[in-house]
Amino acid sequence: MNYNEINQLITSGENTPRMPVLFIGHGSPMNAIEENEFVLGWRNLGKTLPHPKSILCISAHWETRGTFVTAMPKPKTIHDFGGFPKALYDVEYPAPGSPELAVETKQIIKKTTVGLDEKWGLDHGAWSVIRRMYPEADVPVIQMSLDYGQAPQYHFELAKELAALRNKGVLIIGSGNMVHNLRMVAWDKMNEPDFGFDWAIEANDRFKKLIESGDFKSLTNYTNLGGEVQLAVPTPDHFLPLLYSLALKEKDEPISFFNDKPVMGSLTMTSVKIG
Ligand code: ZN
Repeated sequence: MNYNEINQLITSGENTPRMPVLFIGHGSPMNAIEENEFVLGWRNLGKTLPHPKSILCISAHWETRGTFVTAMPKPKTIHDFGGFPKALYDVEYPAPGSPELAVETKQIIKKTTVGLDEKWGLDHGAWSVIRRMYPEADVPVIQMSLDYGQAPQYHFELAKELAALRNKGVLIIGSGNMVHNLRMVAWDKMNEPDFGFDWAIEANDRFKKLIESGDFKSLTNYTNLGGEVQLAVPTPDHFLPLLYSLALKEKDEPISFFNDKPVMGSLTMTSVKIG
């Protein structure tokens, strides 16, 4: 199918009620197969949200030079991690892609030329969460990459251009972790549930307060928020998906938190529902 043919498939102006937007703390890939409270939170979303026509996921685990969307009809399940049990590598999540949504996303973004990708698929930032929300794999999923050459403010502005998709039945999910420092994981406290270092909890509380007060400007300038936040966000990859989700909040929309817990000392699973 060429670009013009796909273009013709795009449904014109038919609008749906505005879909919510999510930021999900995905944590360990094991959440894809374990039973725990976070998984219950994800499953609950699948049961209670309006059923999406399709999903666009911005995952921490797909960084590129420039911005791309997956445009293949059948995205492969990517096992982009090492050292986990075979059972996790055996998981396939066969949700279809949506070349139509990929082209539509490319068209509505004016800030940059979005590339149509045929090689990626679904990385664990996307499938480990989405398979618990929609286990039937009957909702088409595309991913949008993070341009590693760009500043947080750029990502925030780019994300705003996705707003129209919310009225077309598209569930937009940012998947990362607000606090994510793998070098500081408390391996000796793995059996202590909800353990978080003081700096991790402080940084997470700070983020939540800024989210609640709508101070997204301070969040895009997170590198100026001090020592705790520098420890919480040593690299931008797991934090930027949060900015994509927040950028889509309309003025009249409620915002709520769920799965709001630290894990392994230096990560938080705190997730956000907008709308
Ligand atoms: Zn991750």
